[in-house]
Amino acid sequence: MKTIGLIGGMSWESTISYYEILNKEAAAKLGGFHSAKIMMYNVDFAELEANMSSGDWDANAAILADAAVRLEKAGADFIVIATNTMHKLVPQIETKIGVPILHIADATAACIKRDGIAKVALLGTRFTMTQDFIAHRLEEAGLEVMIPDEKDIGLVDGVIFDELCLGKVLDASRREYQRIIAYMKERGAEGVILGCTEIGMLISEKDSVLPVYDTTIIHAKEAARLALG
Ligand code: GLU
Repeated sequence: MKTIGLIGGMSWESTISYYEILNKEAAAKLGGFHSAKIMMYNVDFAELEANMSSGDWDANAAILADAAVRLEKAGADFIVIATNTMHKLVPQIETKIGVPILHIADATAACIKRDGIAKVALLGTRFTMTQDFIAHRLEEAGLEVMIPDEKDIGLVDGVIFDELCLGKVLDASRREYQRIIAYMKERGAEGVILGCTEIGMLISEKDSVLPVYDTTIIHAKEAARLALG
């Protein structure tokens, strides 16, 4: 079994899901007392959030590269960054380590393509929805990516940082997300990517008129598959 180097804490609410899925997958595949070999570096999200707000992405790249280097030195076979948004910094982190990073968008694209879906809505932080570090990777895999209107980008992003990352799950916000997903369906989306690792706390398959692709579940399951062989 390979050892997973998990960079978590962004936010810790969603890292819990990664930890649980990785261990459940190991138990399901290997049975008995088996669990996943995980080394985790949990960052202080307040530092990263402050750097995002001020636009200091280099500072975040330094924090995450330092975490990845420590995990590699400690024996991690590959790195899992438990957030979509910080995948913006993958190119910078990769230059500091020798082990691979399992990219969240690659695992997600593969899963969507297996279902024969071509046009997907992407929900996530403003950075994830409006910049190209996730969308471009999905497009390179052959998917057409749609994002909400500007007003709804603000809403989706606000719910992530003001509620979900602080552990608040509100019915009113779930209804807003449902409205946005329904609107994306009207515009032609065939599936919706929960492209932020906390959205699964709010929206699951039963809440959505579109098939749901939860990046937390997909990424963690792919990491388990890679680790278990
Ligand atoms: N966990 C979120 C994501 O998947 C947002 C928090 C962050 O900025 O890392 O993008």
